[in-house]
Amino acid sequence: MSFDSLGLVPTLLSAVQKAGFTDPTSVQAAAIPKALAGHDLMVSSQTGSGKTAAFMLPALNRISQMPPNKGSGVQVLVLTPTRELAMQVADATKLYGAHIKDLRIATVVGGMPYGAQLKALSRRVDVLVATPGRLIDHLQAKRVNLSTVHTLVLDEADRMLDMGFIEDIEHIVSRTPESRQTLLFSATLDG
Ligand code: AMP
Repeated sequence: MSFDSLGLVPTLLSAVQKAGFTDPTSVQAAAIPKALAGHDLMVSSQTGSGKTAAFMLPALNRISQMPPNKGSGVQVLVLTPTRELAMQVADATKLYGAHIKDLRIATVVGGMPYGAQLKALSRRVDVLVATPGRLIDHLQAKRVNLSTVHTLVLDEADRMLDMGFIEDIEHIVSRTPESRQTLLFSATLDG
């Protein structure tokens, strides 16, 4: 199977090609067409399997097909268990979204100064990558609007649960529209 047959827009295919990817990994081949069709997904995937592109390419595909985002509301929200993973996801998003005009990506994570995050959240944000605790801080201070989220990604969901983030995640999810698409990625899908 090639990337061309997955149904992605040309701006994403050219970015994937530039990244040097020739064929989708198995998790990408399985998840991307289903995500593009609008389904909610629960995907069992390991680090290194290509899971980031498996959720980010369909999420960016949807962004590229929406009318220009004029408000400040977030379109795609990715929750990750750790700051390091959030940074990696944000870097991958820059790579995969390199040919989408004026794409804005913000990262909101714990253990980092508030200044840059406040500045990023005061402007339009298309993709927000966050760890749960710090995002709750910003939500409580009404600095972020999640009512416009069309795609919610829970990355390494099992680790987030192990780290005790369940209540934070439930609160964050309750701030997103029920009509959103939810993509859950986890090393294990037990329980
Ligand atoms: P991830 O599991 O998303 O952290 O990805 C692991 C690594 O695989 C990253 O360095 C990606 O750049 C790379 N990668 C993702 N998809 C592909 C692909 N289809 N072909 C080759 N490398 C890939």
